[in-house]
Amino acid sequence: MYENYEEFEKAKVKCQSCNVWLDYKIVVPSDGCKLNPKVMVIGECPGKDEIIAKKPFVGKAGKLLRATLEEFGFNFETNALISNVIPCRPENNKFPKDKSIVGDCYTKWLEQEISITQVEFLLLFGAQPLKYLLGKTGITKLRGQWYELPSNDKVKCLPTFHPSYVQRKAYMADGDEIKEAFRNDIKYMAVTAGIMK
Ligand code: URA
Repeated sequence: MYENYEEFEKAKVKCQSCNVWLDYKIVVPSDGCKLNPKVMVIGECPGKDEIIAKKPFVGKAGKLLRATLEEFGFNFETNALISNVIPCRPENNKFPKDKSIVGDCYTKWLEQEISITQVEFLLLFGAQPLKYLLGKTGITKLRGQWYELPSNDKVKCLPTFHPSYVQRKAYMADGDEIKEAFRNDIKYMAVTAGIMK
């Protein structure tokens, strides 16, 4: 469908095909290694900071995520690409309830991106990538285990907690346990994908 990543990205940033775009009128492109990345890191949707920077995961949760990824050998120049299930910010950060809007967006952009980059590993953060990429619910039970991407069984997916959930839980009784699981899952991906320092 697209000749190369550049052509794909040019089309993606011009997308205005659903109501979610109307809220801020900005499509946030993916960030990182766009040529043969080893791992694609996938969140839910951009927030306020990401809309300003036009870059995914640059706010408070993003800082935790990027620092943890770098600690385990992920490098945005050479092996990792960061994206989201939807590239637009929904009003008040409320992830759209309309499954067909999100499903169409996934088919149109993220699914194409996975195919163009020929990435083999996906690290999924939070409930929305679990739902829209794997068709599953229940991140607490399902995290830390491998799944095949239904549309391409060569692509291996590892879901884990979203970094903002890890931050919200920090001062609660199970906060340390959740943070440890999040870190272990990221390390598990780094080891399996062969990028651990
Ligand atoms: N949360 C996400 O899921 N994605 C971002 O890009 C930022 C925060």
